[in-house]
This record gives sequence, structure tokens and C-alpha cells, in this order.
Amino acid sequence: MRDDLDRSISILQGERPAPLAGAGYPQDAADAGSTLSEADRTEAILHSARSQRGEVLAALARLDDNTYGRCVDCGAEIPEGRLEARPDAARCVNCQAKHARRR
Ligand SMILES: [Zn+2]
Repeated sequence: MRDDLDRSISILQGERPAPLAGAGYPQDAADAGSTLSEADRTEAILHSARSQRGEVLAALARLDDNTYGRCVDCGAEIPEGRLEARPDAARCVNCQAKHARRR
């Protein structure tokens, strides 16, 4: 999972148009606009890939600590079905719902 994310992050970074890309680029306003929104979209995907990568890394750290599979808030065991759906889940369903409400 982490390797997949690393791969997509580096692909996305490679696709991101370099600022001030040299001569030869079409300069009319319509093209500039579509290049910009493409870059914005790539940036948004990169952002979510990076934050997901952070969650996966945290899950791997919990594996090292032998706390993987336990809720980081209440310490209850996270049901296996939930871990299969979300291998990087840090909280049990109850605490995740509370956590989401707090934000
Ligand atoms: Zn919990």
C-alpha cells in the first residue's frame, strides 16, 4: 500500500507542469487556463495521496509497536472486517465517528 502511494505520488509529481515551462508552450489564455486547472487537479490528488500516505506510515509504525489493530483513542481492538476495508484505520468505528464530529 505504501509502495503504491509512493509510486502514484512520484508519477503525479512528474506530471505536474514545471512553473515557467520554456518556450514552445501555447500562450493563449484558454490554454493557460486549462493548464492551470489541470495543475490544480493534480495538486489536489497529490495532497490526498500524501495525507493517505501519512496514515499508512502511522499504521506501519503501530505494527512496529505492536499496537496495530487497536484503537488509538480507547485501546479497543478494531474488528478485523474494518481493518480489511481500511488497513490504515487508527480508530474503532465509535471513536472514528467521534473524531470526525470533532473536526
Ligand atoms: Zn475506540
